[in-house]
Amino acid sequence: MERMLPPLTPGTLYLVATPIGNLEDITLRALRVLRECDVVAAEDTRRTGQLLKHFEISKPLLSYFQFNEAKRSEEILERLKRGEKVALVTDAGTPGISDPGERVVRAAVAAGLRVESVPGPCALVAALTASGLPTDEFHFIGFLPHKSGQRRKQLEALKRFAGTLALYESPYRVEKLLGELNEVFPNRPIVLARELTKKFEEFLRGTPAELLALVAKRSLKGEFVVLVSGMTADEEAKECESSSSGVVSNG
Ligand code: SAM
Repeated sequence: MERMLPPLTPGTLYLVATPIGNLEDITLRALRVLRECDVVAAEDTRRTGQLLKHFEISKPLLSYFQFNEAKRSEEILERLKRGEKVALVTDAGTPGISDPGERVVRAAVAAGLRVESVPGPCALVAALTASGLPTDEFHFIGFLPHKSGQRRKQLEALKRFAGTLALYESPYRVEKLLGELNEVFPNRPIVLARELTKKFEEFLRGTPAELLALVAKRSLKGEFVVLVSGMTADEEAKECESSSSGVVSNG
């Protein structure tokens, strides 16, 4: 443990993870970086303003979101080159994970500028680690595209992956996603990680059909991470059997 904390390094972009629901999850380092930086680049300045107010931090805010990323990245780079310390935060969780951030990080790295991660909450990690599914190998998909054909194609392409699949999904499309999983992965164990770190956090486990039956009984609200168990040994054996018997599957 460090006793004397060094000051922040001038000209550094700090990627600061923020809570995904429970404010207690902010880290001591995140608070220090937010207190000591020159400016906070935020996905939603109003929302981050509330977070900073809660922790009694007052800082200039700069909006940085999907549709002004290119322009704002340049501005952030200029600031870093002038020696400013810039903290980047998103609405919740870790910047760059299904959130803005990647672009400015890439630009900063290309320009030889310093980037530091201030790790903390991330819905993917919270869901995966408590799911009971294998964590040694996993594939993070993030949000699937909106178009049905593209969604289906992406899921089909992952059928043979042996590790756990992890998706983010909006509450409005969770039922649709379960329907798709029921077609592509009917026998796989699924875990719905709902409202992580919040009052109504729960883990719902079952096959896609079992979870569809549950959703039909009680409408599920809130935020979700959806985890799909990887290809089972059984499925693999069946695939081998059908390919060696010359059966051609068009499914
Ligand atoms: N950057 C964030 C992270 O590190 O997890 C993710 C941002 S992404 C725009 C938002 C999605 O993350 C939600 O639609 C949901 O799938 C997932 N998510 C965020 N907070 C969550 C929570 N408390 N419980 C379950 N899922 C959550």
